[in-house]
Amino acid sequence: MGGTCVIRGCVPKKMLVYGAHFAEDLEDALSFGWSVEGKSFDWVKLRDHVQSDITRLEGLYTQTLENHDVTVFKERARITGEHEITLESGRTVTAAHILIATGARPHVPMCEGSEHIITSNEAFHLDEVPRRVLILGGGYIANEFAGIFNQFGGKVTLANRSDTILRSYDEALRDRLLQISLTKGIEFLFNTRFEYIRRRDDGALDVKLDGHDERVFDVVMAATGRIANTEGLGLEEVGVELGERGEVKVDEYSKTNVDHIYAVGDVTDRVQLTPVAIREGHAFADTVFGKNGPVKVDHSCIPSAVFSHPPIAAVGMTEGEARNTLGNVKVYQADFRPMKHVVAGRSERGLYKMVVDAANDRVVGLHMIGPESPEIMQMAAVAVKAGLTKADFDATMAIHPTMAEELVLFK
Ligand code: NDP
Repeated sequence: MGGTCVIRGCVPKKMLVYGAHFAEDLEDALSFGWSVEGKSFDWVKLRDHVQSDITRLEGLYTQTLENHDVTVFKERARITGEHEITLESGRTVTAAHILIATGARPHVPMCEGSEHIITSNEAFHLDEVPRRVLILGGGYIANEFAGIFNQFGGKVTLANRSDTILRSYDEALRDRLLQISLTKGIEFLFNTRFEYIRRRDDGALDVKLDGHDERVFDVVMAATGRIANTEGLGLEEVGVELGERGEVKVDEYSKTNVDHIYAVGDVTDRVQLTPVAIREGHAFADTVFGKNGPVKVDHSCIPSAVFSHPPIAAVGMTEGEARNTLGNVKVYQADFRPMKHVVAGRSERGLYKMVVDAANDRVVGLHMIGPESPEIMQMAAVAVKAGLTKADFDATMAIHPTMAEELVLFK
């Protein structure tokens, strides 16, 4: 109980990100007067600790349902009639409304030997940190796991089909992450695809990427997007319309083309983020069972973050999008070395960027890379969502010394 986010996604990933950061924190501690004798890292200990916490959380989710009198059938289900679901055991259940929230699963590219490819699902259960790992993809999962494995001592190679990482983020931040990742020893291969993967007798994998010589890796992981889980649900039989990528098509109230069947979350492939799915679920409940009429989810101006090393956070339009849609924009940038890094002798710099509509001074985009940027962005996003202006940011007094003060000091 808990789905991708709790069991094999955001939550265990964030725990690994915390664990990974100690690699640098323990190094930096020396500059702050601490000496850490005999430091070492035990992957199995962290992995098992994370899994036991996931088990605890899973229990809490189950408990919440039980406390609210929810009947749970732990079986595969298929829609077999207008208002009817048939369970694997043969039992049928009827309902006035049906909500599909079956999520998505990792897409794995096909090639000779693609059965040797793991995904983020398996990454949480590895026996050891791979000494040499190849990650295919350049999106959220690829960059987050590249940072994690790298900090734990693995040699990471990231290969993508295009020449871009994190395509939807502002170019300046993408460039900065690439530059910092290279400095940390992560290798990038662009414009490439798998030709084959062959398992050697010793368990290692010979990998051929087009345009490259064959190379050997211990683990090959795909992070090439996710596919909606719609197969075998009986949707075609009851006439629920699917999109090109197999996702359930819904209207702004998350209703499918069948009146009493709704769908929320990743299975609809709108915005594949947990908080968005939660909002969609809430809006469904309000629409169908609430007293105040139908409720829509506003999918505009959604803040997001990549828990890479260092993390990225963003809300609103990138500079490129703003120039395309608004024409006349002003861009403010702060390129700084966080105080903690200065003391630690770490050269890594943060970058904050504000995009402003020149016509009315409204802040239409904020983009950040640097320590704790997702934490800072959550609050800054309130201001952007509320439509505040650069002058409103300027009128707010700084908290000194912080990194976040850069947001009110843009010149
Ligand atoms: P992303 O969509 O972020 O990235 C997919 C990457 O794989 C891109 O670099 C893309 O290349 C490449 N790609 C896409 N399709 C193929 C294909 N058929 N063959 C080869 N390469 C391909 O997906 P992820 O798997 O990283 O993450 C899945 C979803 O999970 C995301 O949509 C994200 O919203 C969510 N997520 C969110 C997180 C967060 O909020 N921090 C963390 C982890 C996941 P190209 O360069 O062409 O785009």
